[in-house]
Amino acid sequence: MDFIDLAAQQRRIKEKIDANIQTVLKHGSYIMGPEIRDLEGKLGQYAGVSHAISCASGTDALLMALMAYGIGPGDAILTTPFTFIATAEVISLLGAVPVFIDIDPETFNISPVRLAEALTALKEGHSTRHPLPKAGGQTRLVPRGIIAVDLFGLAADYDRINTLARQHNLFVIEDAAQSFGAEYNGRKASSLADAACTSFFPAKPLGCYGDGGMCFTDDDDLAEKMRSIRVHGQGNHKYENVRIGINGRLDTLQAAVLLAKFDIFPEEIKLRQDVARRYSEGLYSQHGLRPPIVPPGYLSAWAQYSILSEDESHRETCMSFLKEARIPSAIYYPKPLHLQGAFANLGYGMGDFPVSESCAARIFSLPMHPYLRPEDQGQVIAVLSRGDQSR
Ligand SMILES: *Cc1c(COP(=O)(O)O)cnc(C)c1O
Repeated sequence: MDFIDLAAQQRRIKEKIDANIQTVLKHGSYIMGPEIRDLEGKLGQYAGVSHAISCASGTDALLMALMAYGIGPGDAILTTPFTFIATAEVISLLGAVPVFIDIDPETFNISPVRLAEALTALKEGHSTRHPLPKAGGQTRLVPRGIIAVDLFGLAADYDRINTLARQHNLFVIEDAAQSFGAEYNGRKASSLADAACTSFFPAKPLGCYGDGGMCFTDDDDLAEKMRSIRVHGQGNHKYENVRIGINGRLDTLQAAVLLAKFDIFPEEIKLRQDVARRYSEGLYSQHGLRPPIVPPGYLSAWAQYSILSEDESHRETCMSFLKEARIPSAIYYPKPLHLQGAFANLGYGMGDFPVSESCAARIFSLPMHPYLRPEDQGQVIAVLSRGDQSR
């Protein structure tokens, strides 16, 4: 059993992938070839936004979005500590300061309640109400924006997040690296905030055969800036540079692979719902394990199927039973970002974000992909029930 079975997917669309690659080899436009525009058109339309800007990775997508907003030293960006490092890394990379906000215990996404508290704390300039980072020599942190993450494929609560952002004059970036294909109140992930960023890392719901990413926005001005930043801050012609940018382009070959995969992507999102439902039904009777919660109005892209055990030793038992049965499992994420050495300068400590800390100690993820067979899932559930009984 594979944690993610990319080979099963490849078997379905091998001919199309081969043909698309051959087309690129024939026309030879390896940088910004016609497949790039084709992919941007298709994915933008799917997400329901007017601009889709492909780029070299999900990390570059986040970087380009923050650069387009002119983020730099003195700025504070509010985000979750329970995510992949890239979400907060790009903030620090630009010299700005990540302000971490604890998560909601049901969805694992940034808590709008805690977000409101943090905004008040920032306004008051002290951290009695909410743990704030050291300002890095600055007298005051100026909040500029929020990066919400759609963790494991489930959208964050954008109605409440966007409302708070408007009240405080902040922009919102949706980190949709794990949620492309998800839905929230009838809208597609990647369309839920001022700008959105997704990743085509092979293991993501829509993955290429290498690194890739995309920015989405309805804001014409922001889109133009992101397109410019993607190519060294290019102006109206190749050797005119109007701002500092990066080399952030997506390879034409990766776009060709993605076009073949996108044909079956909507069907794969449906298949993922079936897989998730079978797990949740099987796990329902096991009282020690909490299946993922999908609130009404949400459709998850199921990048991961992550469950909560009772405590760290219960998790260890479950994972060792799975390992004995040769079933892969993984922990996303074992250490929240506020406790990572990379962010030690922010001065956060254990106890600052108790929900994130508790989830990090209890969570683990089961094999998840559209081609997971019911009998394999049955085995996973049977092994986990042994773990449940042995408590
Ligand atoms: C994967 C991921 C990223 C980074 O994407 P890359 O394409 O690997 O650079 C950013 N944020 C989250 C939440 C992710 O899961």
